Amino acid sequence: MGSPTLLPGFSFSQTSLQDFSDCPRRFQLRYIEQLQWPAVETEPVLENERRQQEGQLFHRRVQQHLIGLPAEKLTRLANSPDLSRWWENYLGTKFKYSGYAQHVEITLAAPVGTFRLLAKYDLIAVKLGARVSIYDWKTTRKRPRDEWMAARWQTRVYRAVLVQAGAHLNRGDPFSPEQIEMIYWYAEYPSEPACYPYNTTQYKRDWDALTSLINEIGNHHHFPLTEDEKKCAFCPYRSYCNRGGKAGTMMDEMAETELTGDKINFEQIAEIEF
Ligand code: SF4
Repeated sequence: MGSPTLLPGFSFSQTSLQDFSDCPRRFQLRYIEQLQWPAVETEPVLENERRQQEGQLFHRRVQQHLIGLPAEKLTRLANSPDLSRWWENYLGTKFKYSGYAQHVEITLAAPVGTFRLLAKYDLIAVKLGARVSIYDWKTTRKRPRDEWMAARWQTRVYRAVLVQAGAHLNRGDPFSPEQIEMIYWYAEYPSEPACYPYNTTQYKRDWDALTSLINEIGNHHHFPLTEDEKKCAFCPYRSYCNRGGKAGTMMDEMAETELTGDKINFEQIAEIEF
């Protein structure tokens, strides 16, 4: 029997590409074999779940606000210390998108060979013929380094997919890379957003890298375990790989923000499986 490979039509996302880059074996277990996660990602479990749920609730509140629900009504729903603080920070921030057409929680898809590449955006704000800003809300405790976020697949995928698949948001004309910027707004650090402008050279570099990575994964038959065992501490497949039974702790996670990003992988997977 041959080695398992991806079926044509598979939808890639920034999360699955990041999984492959972090550990090919994790990609295989999660997306080809579609195994459920047998181990917890971080300890303590309840605290981790609470953070995930609050992050999702915060995204929902902002979405509801952007589509027109009154802030006062939503404020009454921000009923935990974290949510209240993030919400106050959000309401106290002067975002630049007033006067822009706002596309909230929108998913774009670009074909790549026999596969698709999806990006689900928190907000795309468009000033026709001028600028387009991608906003992504982050609720991490620690603010990641800007250079680290710049290199994440999310930053590279979101901007490139907008060029490839966003023409319908711009009266049928593809956005030029120079019109695009991506902004991570950190709910714990409201006055320290990370802004990433874009240009044609970056777009060509990223799109070439994305298409070759997707083609490489599509032709892959061997998915080795990562050599960087730090990645295993937060991976739910540890027991499959004999990489230890004990989960990394949230304190480790805080010390190693770079291992986790913000939106939990599972949340992303749920988001794109529409
Ligand atoms: S436990 Fe480690 S080697 Fe195994 S899938 Fe997870 S990251 Fe990869």
